[in-house]
Parts: sequence; C-alpha cells; structure tokens
Amino acid sequence: MTPNTRDIYLDSNATTRVLPKAAHAAVEVMENLFGNPSSSHVAGLRARSILNKARASALRVLGANSGRIVFTSGATEAIQTAIFSALCAIRERKGAESGGRYLIYGATEHKAVPEALKHWVEVLRLPHKILALPVDEKGRIDFDFLASHAVKADLICTMAVNNETGVIHDLAGIEKTIRSAQPEALWLVDSVQAVGKLNLNLATATIDYAAVSGHKLYAPKGIGFLYVREGAPLKPLFAGGGQESGARGGTENLPGVAALAEVFDTMENGGFQNEKTLTGFRDSLVVSLTKAFPDLVFNTPFEAAVPTVINFAVPGLSSKEILDVFDAADIRVSSGSACGSAILGSFVLEAMGLPQWQSEGAIRLSFGPMTTPIEISVACSRIEETGRALRASCLIVREDNEAPIEINDGLIQLKRGSMCSWIYVDAQSATAIIIDPFAELVDRIETIIRCQECKVAAILDTHMHVDHDSCRGDLLKRLDSLLLPSAHTADPLGWPEKTFNVTVGSGETAPAIALGARDVLARVELPGHTIIGCAYLLGHAIDGHLGANVVRYAFTGDTILIGGIGRTDFNSSSSESLYNSIRRLPHLLGPASVICPTHDYHNGFATTMEIERTGNRFLARMLDPLMPMTLEEFNLEKPLMDKGINDALNSELVCGNIAAPCKSKASLAVSLEDRKSFFQKHRGALVIDVREPHEFLFVRDWENLGLTTPPRNVPLTRFPEFLHELFSEYPDRSKLEVICLCRSGNRSGGVAEVLRRCGVNLAWNLTGGLALGESSSYEEQDDG
Ligand code: PLP
Repeated sequence: MTPNTRDIYLDSNATTRVLPKAAHAAVEVMENLFGNPSSSHVAGLRARSILNKARASALRVLGANSGRIVFTSGATEAIQTAIFSALCAIRERKGAESGGRYLIYGATEHKAVPEALKHWVEVLRLPHKILALPVDEKGRIDFDFLASHAVKADLICTMAVNNETGVIHDLAGIEKTIRSAQPEALWLVDSVQAVGKLNLNLATATIDYAAVSGHKLYAPKGIGFLYVREGAPLKPLFAGGGQESGARGGTENLPGVAALAEVFDTMENGGFQNEKTLTGFRDSLVVSLTKAFPDLVFNTPFEAAVPTVINFAVPGLSSKEILDVFDAADIRVSSGSACGSAILGSFVLEAMGLPQWQSEGAIRLSFGPMTTPIEISVACSRIEETGRALRASCLIVREDNEAPIEINDGLIQLKRGSMCSWIYVDAQSATAIIIDPFAELVDRIETIIRCQECKVAAILDTHMHVDHDSCRGDLLKRLDSLLLPSAHTADPLGWPEKTFNVTVGSGETAPAIALGARDVLARVELPGHTIIGCAYLLGHAIDGHLGANVVRYAFTGDTILIGGIGRTDFNSSSSESLYNSIRRLPHLLGPASVICPTHDYHNGFATTMEIERTGNRFLARMLDPLMPMTLEEFNLEKPLMDKGINDALNSELVCGNIAAPCKSKASLAVSLEDRKSFFQKHRGALVIDVREPHEFLFVRDWENLGLTTPPRNVPLTRFPEFLHELFSEYPDRSKLEVICLCRSGNRSGGVAEVLRRCGVNLAWNLTGGLALGESSSYEEQDDG
C-alpha cells in the first residue's frame, strides 16, 4: 500500500483508508460472489463460506478459542447489542427490580458506551445506577473504586485502548478486581482501538463481550463485530430472517465482511508493522513535534499507551489553530475524538484531570499499523514546517537561534468570543500600541509583541470596562523590558503623560502621541457607555490637523458597536453623555475611518459610521442631518431598548443593543462544479484568501482552481485593515466584485457576508472551500 504523500493522514483512530486488497475483496464479492449467505444454492453456499472464514479469523485475531462472532454494522452496534443482551439478562435475575445495583463504565469510554447504557436502562426501565469509573492523571482506571463498587455491579464496561490518548487499560488487573468482587458481573470490553495493536488473548480472559470496528483497521465503514463469550447472554437487537444464527436479523454485509477478512489475513501474515517499528514512528513524530513546538505538553502518557497515538497541546495555541495549520500543510489530524467538539474540550482529558487549556487545546495524531516509514518521514518534515510557519506568524515565540521576524506594519485584531483587543504596529519605528487588552488574549498579545521585538508606546483602555477588570497592569509587567517611557503613566486608561496637541475633525484640540514618523494617535473624550471613556483616533496628521478624512482607525470602545450602540443602564453610564458622544462622532470620522470596537458580537470585525447609520435606524435618527432625535427623545427611548438586552441569554455581558446581521445570500455562493468557469468569467474580481498567513503559505495549487495568479491573502486578524483600504479605494463599492476563499468555506462565508454589509454587493463565497476542489487520490501498488 503506497500512500500518496501529498496528504499525510494521521487520523487513523477516526477512521482509516481501506486496504487496497480489502477493497478488491469487497468488489469481488459485489461483482462475482454476490450470493445471499442464507440461500441454499451454490451462490449462497459460496457466500456463506466467506462469512464462516471471516468468523474464524475474527476469533483468531482476538485470541479466542470459542465464543461467537456476530457481524454488525460497526462497533456502536456491537456495543448496543452487548449492553442490550446483558441488560435483558440482568432484568431476569432475581431481585433485579429492587434497585441498589450498578452498571459501571470507564469515565474515558467512547460515548457509544455510556449513551447505550443510559438508553437501554431507560427503555428497559431498569432501576440500576449508572456509575462512571474514575481514572487517574494517566487515564488508568481507579482500581479502589472498581473494587468497592464491583460488588454491587451487574455489568461493567471498560475499554482495551483509549481512542483519544492511546492509553492501554490493564485488562488482567481489571479482571482480577471484578472477578474477586463479583464473579457474576457481565463484562464488556470495547476493543476497537486495540485490535491490530495489542494481543487480546480472549481465550485466557473472562471477557463476556468485545466490540470491534472495521473502519478503524483498513476495512470499509459499515462493518464490525461483537464477540460473545460462550454462555454469555445474547439477545438480538434486530429481529428478522434469523441471520447470524438468530443473533442479528438482516442480510449480512458480505462485501464488508470479505474486506475485513482480507485485513485480518494481512495482519496474520505479518503485513502489519510490529510494535518496535510503530514505537520508532512515534519517537520520530515526537522529535519533530518538539522541534516545531518546543513548549508543547503531551497528554498521552507514552509508557502506558499504544505507540500509534500522540495527544498533545501547545500553550498559547488553540486546537483549531493547530488543526488549521496542519490541514493547510496537508497533515490530517483531529482535535480529540472525531465525534467530539474541540471547542468544548475533551471529556477524556478532563476525566484525567488535565487543565482546561490542555483539554481544549488537545490535538490527537494517530496512525495505524500499516503506516509507512515514508509517510512518517514526510509527516515529520511537514510538522517542522508548520512550527516555522507559526513562528513567522508570531503565534509562537521564535527560538533564540532563529532569524528575527520581519515586523509587520499595521493593525491586528485579536478576538476571543465577542471580545476584541487591538495591536497597532509601526514597523519603521518598531513601536506598537495595544488597545483594550482582554485577559483571555494577554498571552497572544505578549507573544506577538515579543516575537516582533517591538517597543510598546502605550497600553490603553478605551473605557472603564463594566464586565471585567483591565489587564493593563498584567501586560505592563509582562512586557516590562519592551516598554517605552510613555507606557508608564498614572492615567487610569493608560494614556501617556507627555503629549502634544492636534486639532481633530470637530475643531477641538486633542492630546496626541506620535506613532513613528507619520502617524499620530489622538485621544478625544467619549463618555456615556461608561462615564470615563474616550476614543483613540489613528491617522496621519497634516500640519497638526487630524481631520476626519485622515483618520484610518477609531478605537471607540463600546460606544459604537456593529449593529448597535453602547448602554445607558450601567451604574457608570450617562445617557446624556452617550447621546452627545455619538452625535460628535460624524465630525471626527470620515467614510473610510474604520471603527474598531471592543466587542464584536456577530463576527462583523469592524465598521464605519456610514455603515452603522445605514443599518441602524435608531442611530440614523440620532444623526439625522435635518431632524435629529432630541436628547429628550433619546432619554425616553434608550432606557426601553436597554431593558430589552437579556444578559442572561449570553455568556458574556452584552455591551449594547445588537442586531443580528442579515443572513447570507445563497445566490452569491459558488458551487464546486462552477468553479473554473466562474473564475474565468469573473476575471476582474478581487480574489482574497482569508486564512492566516501560516496557513496560506502552504497552498500552491491555485491553477487547479482556474486562478491565473494567487489570491491576495487577507487574514481575519488583518481584515479591519483591509476594510480601511477597501473603503478608501472604493468609495462606491456597489459594482466591486470580491471572491472570498478559505479551506472549508466557513470563514470566507462570514467575510463575504461582512463585505456585503459594507456595501460590496458582489461579495462571493466559494462554498465548501478550497478543500472540495482538491483531489487526494492514492496510488496503488501491488502489495504482494
Ligand atoms: N469505540 C471506540 C473506542 C471508538 O474509537 C469508536 C469509534 O470512534 C467506536 C467505539 C465506535 O465505532 P463505530 O464507528 O464502528 O461505530
């Protein structure tokens, strides 16, 4: 089996490709040996002999001399059948209805186990208590807990190898504990991730049920089996034509069974890599991962795990960021299990008591016993490349021996949930300012500043936040060695003491500081949402004048939000001040001045006064040039609006009345089939790829898409900067065509929507993303 090393697949615990010989076996069955195993004619007999042969090799693979193999659609069905069978038998036992008995499962079991227990206990109305068996920090089960609870247990479910960490469970120890406490208890072992990697030797164990899945081991999806120990209860989940000797109704998946048998054949004939080789593969990957991410932490205790799984987390990087850069480098890995949600963290790692960041940031890299040395070697060099790419993007701090990073000019938006922190860097003077740093983003801010080796001129808050304490103090400490004298100040918002005056668009005089040779940052008071509040206006002042049209960015805190305005119902709010502040803004800002808010509730990134006036009727009335809303009207209407804000519905305090944006226009989506012709037809369009630079640099195949030149990279962190450029260059954007790309079409879909809100009526999204345009075929080789 020679893989195409273009795609490095390191997600074997989620599923594997099908072994070519196994695929051939399935095709052969579909084309030639297609009889129904229940038929009594020759075609049926031939089919039945395939089943029987496969059953025998399944028993051998499990190291069982006796017992039954029931073919199922996969391990989930095998687990259901085992649990259903066990619970039906338990229900018949004397005193079963009296309660006080346990059904125990390991806390790190695949969801199929606890969910099946819950389901069948409910359906069968059993009085049993379902107990999760705790694990220690290495994922090993708590034997004391097991010993003390097994006495009252009727069914115990454990796993042989954990799917997320590769941790091997001590089945002999579990058996001893169970059997000395409760010889009658039925015992299910989920063996999905063990087959092919460990010898199970069921002949010497009292395991009652073992569940196995084909698609984790080079057979197709839709095939698996349940091993049932001789004498253990077996109740069919499906009643029907009596197939599988009455254990499972329904015609067997013969192609799947034939493929599985072929895999077992390969395994029995030495076609799988041995443990030593697999451990060597893991060691190589570990070396490369450590080179790429020197600070990484392994969540897998290697000494207690199969060699085919590496679970790790990198401080300061989310699992999505690692996943995205790996995917861009064509390395397929997963965050935790394929069924789990990375955002919520991993229940397996939580059960092991690992810190939340390690669980939320976990990446699982898993390979199989047929992985080849060439795949591992390509994987290693690509992993190291991803590390370099992330360092160049300043997401991880570079090593001392690495060349300094070229400082990137301009504005960076950092987001966590709705919170936005901003960094502006003037490359020429190597100075940065940081605005509204949130505690959740402090690590990232520190890394970016350290990586670029900028001096920090100021760390500023736009207002006294209501929902959190400023983390300016923390950041000042962390960045101490990089602070310019101006950053040390007694001002509560961090405004430097030494300033000079500029006149701003409203004609007022405002204090300002210089940002490099060209730009200034001026502070104008903007109270209301909170009584101490200001806006920072950034632009190129001409002769001491920072007119509205030269303001590139306006950091206005929560005064103007995307789709809303600030609140007047906090203790520290002032309705009258908010009214006056908002009414001043059109004098201070021009049509291309990008408002950079402190919160972004609907992924709108940034906005302008003009866009907000168009989309927000209340604001439009406030700013109506002919008949503006009066202060009295504002004082009357705004409290009613604030009452409508339901903080309880949101995980974060909502800093204003926010309208959700309109939904995307499906007609502006480009489907897979139309791609090439679409790009040809829209040759004049601006094509942007919204992935981060460390992802973008891996993509080389633009021509495949019908693009003659690579698209422009506009990462989301730089999107507000792009908006300013767009607004300055295209005051009328109604005819401008922009095509947005990314890997999956999600990020680009959001960006296209934002662009449409910003007046780019023809903002297209490539649905399904670039991933769907790529083919990842495998070369096949005679594997003899
Ligand atoms: N058990 C374990 C340990 C697994 O890893 C999986 C699949 O992720 C399953 C059960 C479910 O297997 P299947 O997909 O065959 O239903």
